[in-house]
Amino acid sequence: MERSSKEIIQENRDYTLFSWSVQSTANPIHMKSAKGVWFWDGDGNKWLDFSSQLININVGHQHPKVLEAIKRQVDELCFAGPSFATEPRGVLGKKLAEVTGLAKSFYTLGGAEANENAMKIARLYTGRNKIITRYRSYHGATMGSMTASGDPRRWPVEPGVPGIVRVFDPYCYRCPFGKTPDSCSRECVSHIEEVIQMEGPHTIAAIMVEGITGSNGLLVPPDDYYPKLRALCDKYGILLIDDEVMSGFGRTGKWLATQHYGIKPDIVTSAKGLTSGYLPLGAVIVSDKIAEWLETHMLWGGLTYSGHPLSCAAAVANLSVYEEEHLFENVEQQGAYLASRLEAMKRKYACVGDVRYKGLFSVLELVRDKATKEPLAPFNGTSPEMAKLAAHLKSKHIYAFLRFNWAFVCPPLVINQEELKYGLDAYEEGLALVDEMLGV
Ligand code: PLP
Repeated sequence: MERSSKEIIQENRDYTLFSWSVQSTANPIHMKSAKGVWFWDGDGNKWLDFSSQLININVGHQHPKVLEAIKRQVDELCFAGPSFATEPRGVLGKKLAEVTGLAKSFYTLGGAEANENAMKIARLYTGRNKIITRYRSYHGATMGSMTASGDPRRWPVEPGVPGIVRVFDPYCYRCPFGKTPDSCSRECVSHIEEVIQMEGPHTIAAIMVEGITGSNGLLVPPDDYYPKLRALCDKYGILLIDDEVMSGFGRTGKWLATQHYGIKPDIVTSAKGLTSGYLPLGAVIVSDKIAEWLETHMLWGGLTYSGHPLSCAAAVANLSVYEEEHLFENVEQQGAYLASRLEAMKRKYACVGDVRYKGLFSVLELVRDKATKEPLAPFNGTSPEMAKLAAHLKSKHIYAFLRFNWAFVCPPLVINQEELKYGLDAYEEGLALVDEMLGV
């Protein structure tokens, strides 16, 4: 007899721990099945996945080509240790070199481990110790990657690992330097140079940044930010580590978000959209120079599941779906529609202070007052108005990612305009309810 959803949820709650939650408040949905941009819960409700789970299931749920590739690999070879050569491992490495313009990949199980290893490689290669990161960032939940993050999720693990130095972000809507587009001289880059000098350039191995900051507010940098940051790194022999775990692999319409800005990082880290979540995989992709150095120097790192054949096969199939199904073109097309809707919402609703977007990577920043920009919820907190918006979207079975005063829109890259419209209409209803609560 089929078990009830209630029973399944209860068993999950009784015997498993849910991330980032006070366990007694965890309220999981029982996901029973899924297809494309939709999933169904155990009560038969159909949900629109408007955040691609954790902004990772880029090709949508249950894509037949990825499923087929995994099944084929299961039959052929499930596992080989990390010192063995396998076909999917090499094919994937070659593809990653082609799409990033870098040289070689070291495989991990996810994004946090990729960043741990990127920082380790940068330290080995440069012989320097410190890593500069940004306050508004998330690099993963392992000790080093969590410390590297500026996100409040790092607070409970402090003091964390030594050697992390944080700088401010290119957050133009709330410029940390009090500048406006007219008065700005890119202090978000020039202050990093001052930090480098104060810390000692010879002590800094790398600057690690998210290609486009994701869960900390989706901060799209000004067009010249990356060229200036690249130049700064070159000036002091500092490596640029580009964390593309969330912003990479089609999310913004290119393989890497930094490709919009015409620069090449020294190291790219990836996970999420690398397999679209079908199996766990991360990658640290290094430049020619670093790969060459590693020819004669030890790579002090390894993982039992590095280069797992199933994950690599899933990634190869997933990357070919991006190309065969022209998903980046779809991102551009649907992204243009999304942008026009977001801009219209900014004009129409008093609570929408700013909208930021690149491809299908977007956010609405919500405020109590457009003039003062007072956030609709405090940093690291929530508010009755944000709770109202969340409850409305849930009642409409829209699975959405809301955090602090940000409402993200990051659907699978296979979404069509009708589906996008359906989700955005529900967002608009929610924004109208917020305006009503604010009495504006
Ligand atoms: N880096 C970024 C930019 C992320 O958004 C995330 C996860 O959300 C990570 C790293 C960590 O990835 P994982 O959860 O696979 O360890």
